[in-house]
Amino acid sequence: MFVEDMVHLGKVRSEIREIFEYGNKRKQEIGAENVFDFSIGNPSVPAPESVKKAIIDIVENGDPVATHGYTSAQGDAHVRDTIANYINKKFGTDITKDNIYMTCGAAASLTIVLNAIMEKDEECIVFTPFFPEYTIFIKESGAKVVQVPGEEGTFQIDMEKFEAAVNEKTKAVIVNSPNNPSGVVYSEETIVKMCDILRKKEKEYGHPIFLITDEPYRELVYDDIDVPYMINYYDNTFVCYSYSKALSLPGERIGYIVVSNKMVDSKDAYAAVCGAGRVLGYVCAPSLFQKVIERCIDDTADISIYKTNRDLLYNSLTEMGFECVYPDGAFYLFVKAMEDDAKAFCEKAKEQELLLVPADSFGTPGYVRVSYCVQTEQIEKALPAFKKLADSYK
Ligand code: PLP
Repeated sequence: MFVEDMVHLGKVRSEIREIFEYGNKRKQEIGAENVFDFSIGNPSVPAPESVKKAIIDIVENGDPVATHGYTSAQGDAHVRDTIANYINKKFGTDITKDNIYMTCGAAASLTIVLNAIMEKDEECIVFTPFFPEYTIFIKESGAKVVQVPGEEGTFQIDMEKFEAAVNEKTKAVIVNSPNNPSGVVYSEETIVKMCDILRKKEKEYGHPIFLITDEPYRELVYDDIDVPYMINYYDNTFVCYSYSKALSLPGERIGYIVVSNKMVDSKDAYAAVCGAGRVLGYVCAPSLFQKVIERCIDDTADISIYKTNRDLLYNSLTEMGFECVYPDGAFYLFVKAMEDDAKAFCEKAKEQELLLVPADSFGTPGYVRVSYCVQTEQIEKALPAFKKLADSYK
């Protein structure tokens, strides 16, 4: 009677949600201060003051009908113009508002792009570790997921494995840098090599292979790390951006897609994005928040707290003997489990009230993800528990 896959997806929560719910239950049992919840990627710092001011000003002084009314499907023209100019100034591109499509965050950006380009039985490559929702989004578009293992230890792209995985059915590649769950930022060298392979394969197979760059963590980088802007490296690129993490607005659902102006048949590509947004029933991105981000375009939440947390957690855990991938960005630490079975390792961590996520569903069994978008105090209090966990393996 109901679509079986949908019933299944509705019933089986993601592993992350499962642990998060367990954490909520445990907090009720023993008190929130005694549970060290590192499970979920919900920003722990508030949105900047500029967001609050913009909301108040728009609501108090804006036209009340326009403030809450529909915008055009692709988004308010003035907002898109502001975003296009901002991107051009920052990254030296020459896009216009007609390359920007406003969305309800990165998840919506991804589903729209995938539905715009993927056809039945075509293949979309993802690099491990990857955000588990990709598999759901790709399969829903009718396409097939092809996992390419990242380089062991660094989780940069393994070029040999990547090149071997591309074939005539390959239609798209998703990259996510800074990465959830590894925190890794792809170096310029990695990007250049990957794009060279893509261009070579496009020529070989005689059709475009699209690069989908998922960028909700673009602003969350530490130590002056540069995150190359993909449309400057590869013409057939869709950028999926979101303000969920940069402005700490995950519940407000606001982001955008950039369809590169250099893309093959760029106008049709943009039309396909508009068509997919329509089919998926998005209508338009939230009107109030389109206007808010226009005013806060160059602002971010206070990400210095994440750097403090990153340094504290990385230094402490490596000192205790944990093997961790050094995270240049995002707010996750990727840690090698101290036994082969990461799920069993996370169960053992629970005995210390530590809630960690096994990375099996990220395509990397044997690792766990530690989300450090928490209060620094929680990390300080949790360190003895991490130490007990490490010692239990000695
Ligand atoms: N992509 C990645 C890699 C993510 O980590 C997330 C959320 O955590 C998303 C996409 C979805 O983000 P949004 O809230 O903008 O839909």
